[in-house]
Amino acid sequence: MKRRNFFKFAAAVPVVAMVPGLSHAALASASPKKILVVGGGMGGAAAARYLKLWGGNVVEVYLITKDASYSTCIQSNLVITGAQPLSSITRNYSVLSSSGINVQQNQVTGIKQDGAQVLVSFSTPPKLHTPSQYDHVILSPGMGPIPDSIPGETRDFSLSFWEGNKALDLKNALDHIPNKGTFVISIPSGAYKGSLAPYGRAFAVADYLQSRNCKIIVIDGHADFVSQKNDFVAALKSFGSHLLQTPSKYSYYAGGTVEYYPGATLNSVSLKDKILHTNLPINFGSTKDGDIPYHAANVIPPQKANLDFASALLEGGAFAPVNAQTFASTVTGYSHVYVIGDAAFLPLPTTPATSVPKSGHAAVDEAKIAAAAILRKIAGRSPETSLVLSAVQYNAIRSTSAHKGVYAHAGYQWDQTHDSWVASGGFLGDPSNTKDQAANISQENYNQGLTWRNALLADAFGR
Ligand SMILES: Cc1cc2nc3c(=O)[nH]c(=O)nc-3n(C[C@H](O)[C@H](O)[C@H](O)COP(=O)(O)OP(=O)(O)OC[C@H]3O[C@@H](n4cnc5c(N)ncnc54)[C@H](O)[C@@H]3O)c2cc1C
Repeated sequence: MKRRNFFKFAAAVPVVAMVPGLSHAALASASPKKILVVGGGMGGAAAARYLKLWGGNVVEVYLITKDASYSTCIQSNLVITGAQPLSSITRNYSVLSSSGINVQQNQVTGIKQDGAQVLVSFSTPPKLHTPSQYDHVILSPGMGPIPDSIPGETRDFSLSFWEGNKALDLKNALDHIPNKGTFVISIPSGAYKGSLAPYGRAFAVADYLQSRNCKIIVIDGHADFVSQKNDFVAALKSFGSHLLQTPSKYSYYAGGTVEYYPGATLNSVSLKDKILHTNLPINFGSTKDGDIPYHAANVIPPQKANLDFASALLEGGAFAPVNAQTFASTVTGYSHVYVIGDAAFLPLPTTPATSVPKSGHAAVDEAKIAAAAILRKIAGRSPETSLVLSAVQYNAIRSTSAHKGVYAHAGYQWDQTHDSWVASGGFLGDPSNTKDQAANISQENYNQGLTWRNALLADAFGR
């Protein structure tokens, strides 16, 4: 779907305080239920908000989250370059609280389903009147680093900077880079959230550091850009780089401010010497080929669902398998537990295997689908069958010298025959789909990205 039509479609959906396809009367006659939402990020905030908006007095909604406020990763690149304040990506829970949702700051440490009830434990005893037993639980705890996945990195992944609330820490590191210094960003081949954001971050940082003549090195675990290759090659060229090849036929982009090295393996990090040890057949000015000295680095670790407190839901995998139509866990004995957002596994029937991207936009859509499925179940109805969700990414390429960005969208619909999500349009995450991919680095994309981010946060947090 073209973006113009996508926005037109999104704007045309009426905001009604009713579960789609379910009358107020059908729900009003149901017996009241207690529902817990775990994780107050994009998916969790939206799930709590829509459960209450649609469920009214039939549901008591509890939202448990670790922190008093939430800073989204979405467009954190603009906070890193100082183009936007941290407050632009930060929301508290005041609107959700005032709309009748019981919001509490706490950490869930365990869940267990016992018959039709889900028993929940917390790191600190929950405040008075909070039951620890619920009829349904929605988990949206996001994803985080796989422990010890990068030799040499500390256990708290000191170079990760991949959460929204770490944006100012990376800005601080960039502000201490000397003239002609080097910033390296490392992208894992395994799962991570915000698939195109590392590329966006590299260009936004290059623009931010341009007056200091710094070099930006991107080492990518993938064989090529994850998608939007035309956009990112155009961006590389705009920063003066071009395609080069080693005698052994390894291809990369260099010669300008931003260098791009695909197919890279990060073997280890020397925090003390500030060197990234890679497999690259390139000399970066060190005694050993592949060793990259840095002044500041952003090493994105491979990630998995933040579900250590409910590891049974993973069935040994990195993400939780769910029913594609409702987001209820498919693990035996957990039918009243739903998993949405980055923590859920939504495979697509493709070869090679792919899945719905880890996306905040998708997490908000999934929240609404899970909330509707629960409320329909409470009303004794079967789940909706006409379901769609979208992944959307805007990435600024320049936010200091100019305001320019790129845009990517992918649409998915639930396929009843295969009980699976299937791609229905767009091209995010599908490098083989080249249609509609002409490079477009524009001010319109930059501005629309800000509008879209604000609308998405308002949809989830009510402001
Ligand atoms: C740099 C970057 C740029 C991105 N850009 C885009 C973009 O342009 N478009 C897009 O759609 N997506 C983007 N994303 C991805 C997006 O941020 C995530 O997909 C989205 O935040 C997932 O939402 P979630 O609800 O699953 O998890 P999160 O938003 O991560 O929220 C999880 C919440 O759960 C809390 N929590 C975790 N465990 C517990 C527990 N045990 N008890 C209580 N609380 C807990 C956490 O503290 C957190 O508040 C980007 C990501 C990055 C890193």
